[in-house]
Amino acid sequence: MVAVSEAEYMKYKDPKQPLGVRIKDLMKRMTLEEKVGQMTQIERKIASPDIMKQYFIGSILSGGGSVPAPKASAETWVNMVNEFQKGALSTRLGIPMLYGIDAIHGHNNVYGATIFPHNVGLGVTRDPELVKKIGAATALEVRATGIPYTFAPCIAVCRDPRWGRCYESYSEDHKIVQAMTEIIPGLQGDMPTNSRKGVPFVGDQTKVVACAKHFVGDGGTVKGIDENNTVIDFNHLLSIHMPAYLDSIRKGVATVMVSYSSWNGKKMHGNRDLVTGFLKDKLKFRGFVISDWEGIDKITSPPHSNYSYSVQAGVQAGIDMMMVPENFTEFVDDLILQVKNNIVPMSRIDDAVKRILRVKFVMGLFEKPLADLSLAAQLGSQEHRQLAREAVRKSLVLLKNGKTSATPLLPLPKKAPKILVAGTHANDLGYQCGGWTIEWQGLQGNDHTVGTTILTAVTKAVDPSTKVIYNANPDTEFVKSNEFSYAIVVVGEPPYAEFDGDNTNLTIPEPGASTITNVCKAVKCVVVLISGRPLVIEPYISNTDAFVAAWLPGTEGQGVTDALFGDHAFTGKLARTWFRTVDQLPMNVGDAHYDPLFPFGFGLTTKAIVN
Ligand code: BGC
Repeated sequence: MVAVSEAEYMKYKDPKQPLGVRIKDLMKRMTLEEKVGQMTQIERKIASPDIMKQYFIGSILSGGGSVPAPKASAETWVNMVNEFQKGALSTRLGIPMLYGIDAIHGHNNVYGATIFPHNVGLGVTRDPELVKKIGAATALEVRATGIPYTFAPCIAVCRDPRWGRCYESYSEDHKIVQAMTEIIPGLQGDMPTNSRKGVPFVGDQTKVVACAKHFVGDGGTVKGIDENNTVIDFNHLLSIHMPAYLDSIRKGVATVMVSYSSWNGKKMHGNRDLVTGFLKDKLKFRGFVISDWEGIDKITSPPHSNYSYSVQAGVQAGIDMMMVPENFTEFVDDLILQVKNNIVPMSRIDDAVKRILRVKFVMGLFEKPLADLSLAAQLGSQEHRQLAREAVRKSLVLLKNGKTSATPLLPLPKKAPKILVAGTHANDLGYQCGGWTIEWQGLQGNDHTVGTTILTAVTKAVDPSTKVIYNANPDTEFVKSNEFSYAIVVVGEPPYAEFDGDNTNLTIPEPGASTITNVCKAVKCVVVLISGRPLVIEPYISNTDAFVAAWLPGTEGQGVTDALFGDHAFTGKLARTWFRTVDQLPMNVGDAHYDPLFPFGFGLTTKAIVN
């Protein structure tokens, strides 16, 4: 036997070694350039095996809608991720990179994936076990494409529905958001990120690294303006926006993303007191902190006007990995120089890199850096679609049923001579899924993903003898002349994401509002509203016979018809306050002048019909 010297025995590669020993061994071998590389996350579009190798890049992301090819298969994804990974593995120390994506309601960038309801609907279910299962299903679908990291969950507590990201929030109530952090063990399994135990273990190949975002106060900005300023005192920050971070850390969340927003005028990306002092030191978060997309650029106004300052302020605040998607060399060069000039201390770099390596070890990336196709059948599996369907029906809130409670319209009979399905959202999967679906801003139409529209779900639910007529925007004459038994009107918001969804009037967009009026004047109707938040419905609801808030249900439209036709009862309770007029906003449960159209917790029930 040939004796192996201490230098040759790469302890960090030995899975039998305790975590701390592996990290320490690897750290002592790394150069400054290799360390800064670990702190750098770049966009897929500009990544290549050569760039991975040359800059020791630690992480790659697919930003919203960034895919290797339209409708790319699991195999295409896996091959792409593996090519980048091979670049990372070909470096001197062979440190694997970590690929991340926004799988925020299922694996939503990927064709054929199961798309679950957005968080605004999941909050309604008040069912943490269900949400945990959704996390586990999402992890399997993400892993099926070779990806081990998702930038989810968003644990924002949205206090103002004018915010374009309100649908990414489970509730205006922090207790519901806290309960929903159960998605983290679903995504990650028992990843011991925050445990102090140094024991060796093997990473679970069916799980992904999660990311609680956006730290902190993202849902509390003035007038719900995206990336804006959250003006509240520390006690309110602690009692409303912070609790879900405590739960996330307790449940082992491996990463936390910093918010674009400011707290009392100070950009979170430069807030050392909260990121280091509170999150890392006080809450004992031991995973890594990641910036948002070009988040450090926005520390200065205008963005990128003093980049050296941004780099220094962001790293010193305690951000460990920088999402510097495109101009990453500027970041790399700048940070290396600042360390050499003793502006940023080496101890800060070491803290960041240790945290990143810890997550990579915990994930099992050193043992199995290359993905295979063993999970490919998980993508959009029937089992996951059934789970999504269950989530859809539990996320529905029945706001009205019958002109009087003695004359309920729901559940609808399956057997009727002729029924109308109307509205722009009745036969549109893109609209049904909302933003962050295939494209960042979402899409219109049925060609981009696989699923069941509400129209198709209706045709599947009714008796074969029932004639179903579809019309996206019928006029009253058409409705009257047809003598329909009843109508299902599906209207709502078009897809949007982030600041593009900020909205100060929150009306039902046309032609949806007219469709409600045209149809409901002429025939008994139930309105199904597809939206990322409550909208102004008071002017319309009196004309309707029944009204259902369906939020952004995703690909499984049959969840909606399950409840409409009485196979399952309506059980959802509002996890947001349904305001009357926008000038009441912000208005949240517990406020002094609380005068909602429907209060937080409201939701009618029906009895399921036993067939
Ligand atoms: C969003 C984040 C997201 C990131 C990466 C940003 O614009 O604010 O929530 O994770 O992009 O796609």
